[in-house]
Amino acid sequence: TKTQKTPPKDETSINAQLLIKAGFVHKEMAGVYTYLPLGLRVLKNIEKIIREEINAIGGQELLMTTLQDPSLWKKSGRWSDKVVDNWFKTKLADGGEVGIANTHEEPLVALLNHHVSSYRDLPLFIYQFQTKFRNELRVKSGIMRSREFLMKDLYSFSRSEEEFKEFYETCAMAYERIFSRVGIGDKTYRTAASGGSFTPGLTDEFQTISSAGEDTIFVDKTKRLAVNKEVYTNEVVSALGLKKQDLVEEKAIEVGNIFPLGTKYSKALGFTYKNEKGEERPVVMGSYGIGLGRLMGTIVEVLSDEKGMVWPNTVAPFQAHLLALEGGEKEAKKVYDLLVKQRVEVLYDDRDASPGEKLADADLLGIPWRIVVSKKTVESNSIEVKQRSEEKVTLMPQKDLLSYIS
Ligand code: ATP
Ligand code: MG
Repeated sequence: TKTQKTPPKDETSINAQLLIKAGFVHKEMAGVYTYLPLGLRVLKNIEKIIREEINAIGGQELLMTTLQDPSLWKKSGRWSDKVVDNWFKTKLADGGEVGIANTHEEPLVALLNHHVSSYRDLPLFIYQFQTKFRNELRVKSGIMRSREFLMKDLYSFSRSEEEFKEFYETCAMAYERIFSRVGIGDKTYRTAASGGSFTPGLTDEFQTISSAGEDTIFVDKTKRLAVNKEVYTNEVVSALGLKKQDLVEEKAIEVGNIFPLGTKYSKALGFTYKNEKGEERPVVMGSYGIGLGRLMGTIVEVLSDEKGMVWPNTVAPFQAHLLALEGGEKEAKKVYDLLVKQRVEVLYDDRDASPGEKLADADLLGIPWRIVVSKKTVESNSIEVKQRSEEKVTLMPQKDLLSYIS
């Protein structure tokens, strides 16, 4: 990995500036980013947390294709660029058209039609981590809005409105746990919003308060609920049990969105099951998305400071950042071996660079624990430890290091 001295000139968002400067991502072109080893480690940690929480509520993981059959989308009415304005589509060699995934309701319904026939086959909760392509008009928010991005998309298939609603609330709680575990729980609010091309009714977004946000929401910080400006009416506010005078206007980032879909897609695609009486009934659906890059970018926006990023332990690319400064090289290698042996994930800076450079890079990279071995620490038979999120620097005997950081 390699850091850059100056932030990229063509990026205005904090997340892109820091992530590129620190060598976590590489910009291929506008709205298209490669995850470098450090960035990928963060992305994988986020993915692991989401997977654990979705498995815990009964999700079953699969992996669907990026290429999609237009005939399914024509049935639901969403093939049209007037309905979905950010489609990427391409042509097959034989002349036919093919869609490039921006979401997966239609193909998943078609797939499940082969697996579900009776009430005994339901409910089902199916999810994936899959790359979505959206031809976004404006991409100035770094990895928070890209044209190619990884999404966790989950879909629920239930026998009735009540069965659907129960899972919907269970999933909302799983989302709260996910956002807490990645370190932005206190700033993230369940927010009533519109359904876009997915549904005519209201949906729930999860919005993280940040000046970098593209959305405007009205928040009740005590009740921990919010209303998106796009549906901010007296009717919606009172339906949520809120009062306009208790709400504060904030800029926010949509980190996740959960949608009641009713029977729109199951009816359009003929997806039914037989109930106990043998009657055909349409399956009741919901869909639930989280953008992994959006979430990673939001963590950077919300938790960074003037020196760089500040990763929570749960998603940090490494737990410890070991710096070998002049005169401490030999001893640092021993500390490195000890940490590795104890299964501490450690990034080892043994570059031939100045102490100033190494310390500045440690702040930029934002790994939770900074451990310094230098001539000074060797002479005093100690080791220097500092948390990225705190100012305090502690000198301690080497033997105390592991118990201190664990
Ligand atoms: P937005 O309003 O920000 O364009 P959306 O409402 O169109 O997003 P959804 O269809 O709700 O997006 O997608 C589910 C989730 O995927 C979003 O909540 C967000 O976390 C993420 N997401 C959507 N678009 C992007 C994008 N262009 N880049 C990265 N993540 C995205
Ligand atoms: Mg949305």
